[in-house]
Amino acid sequence: MTKIEQIKELFRTLSFEEQRLLFEELSPSDSIKQPINNNLKTITNCLYCQSNLIIKFGTRKDIQKFKCKTCHKIFTTNTGTSYYHLKKRDKFNEYKDLMEQGYIPLQKIAAKIGISIQTAFDWRHKILCNLKESNTQFEGLTEMDDVWFLYSQKGRKGLKYSRKRGGSKRRGDNNFQVKLLITADRKKNKDLSVVRIGRLKKSDIERKVGGHFVEGSTLISDKHRSISSFAKSERISHVSFISKKHTAGGDYHIQNVNNIASRLKTSVNHQLRGVSTKHLQCYANWFKYLEDKKNGIKHNILDCTLRNNKQTWDQFTNLEGIYKRFIENLSVRTYRCPVKRKWTTSISYTSSNYNGAFI
Ligand SMILES: [Zn+2]
Repeated sequence: MTKIEQIKELFRTLSFEEQRLLFEELSPSDSIKQPINNNLKTITNCLYCQSNLIIKFGTRKDIQKFKCKTCHKIFTTNTGTSYYHLKKRDKFNEYKDLMEQGYIPLQKIAAKIGISIQTAFDWRHKILCNLKESNTQFEGLTEMDDVWFLYSQKGRKGLKYSRKRGGSKRRGDNNFQVKLLITADRKKNKDLSVVRIGRLKKSDIERKVGGHFVEGSTLISDKHRSISSFAKSERISHVSFISKKHTAGGDYHIQNVNNIASRLKTSVNHQLRGVSTKHLQCYANWFKYLEDKKNGIKHNILDCTLRNNKQTWDQFTNLEGIYKRFIENLSVRTYRCPVKRKWTTSISYTSSNYNGAFI
């Protein structure tokens, strides 16, 4: 028996948890494949029909497969997650680590890892689809303001007019401005949500952060009517000021939100050289992730949800549909030139969940 075989033999005698720990200790990064049957305990029901009559159904590339005895569908622990249909898993992990460092241009990162630009773009969004947290809670003094980005169709093919990015630079609310609502308390909880194109409405705020305020918190904003009526209906105490004055005195200002807004604008408009409206929410999530990381807020989103969020695939393959609904329902713009790329697989059980939840 060779040494390697002996080691293998010994390895098999370890418990699953011991195997996992040993793997973690030995691997230089987490770029090594997980041992067989990882996440086995987390799968108890069929992903498609929720039936618990599932059986193990062999492995494929070291990943345990399952078969549902009710709907006869086959799935693995990766089905629906960012790792679904992934052909270069090792490179993907390397890519993920690079993404944590900041905004690296697609061309650069593609060359570094050795993948095509299209793959680099897809992976970026497969990762970013995981980052939106929907139930951030706010407490104490909480600032709110909206920031706008020009409507952009960057990357869209087949448009009849030449200007894909931008639109009217006229000041004040207009129908080319994509509004992003920023809510942040002084404990570094924050929410960045793309809400609509045009003037911010009370319903937008309700949809995004309604019910997320801990009792006794105070909302601070400028005298935007929608924000005032939102505070009234949520029964939150509200301090407002004329926007020219920038503060209502003392601690009642929105400087934190303004700072976030200006950093976000720099990232989107300069570092990333403009972002299409379709992907603006994704990039806002990335921005928030990097900001939190800088502030020492530990997220295990990238490690945890990438493997466990089974809605990622549906979200990723439906980005165009989500964008279409956004344009049709939350703007006066016309949805044009649909992207022709199609994916045939979807995890049907999530279809009711992702509906509009992202934008
Ligand atoms: Zn099933």
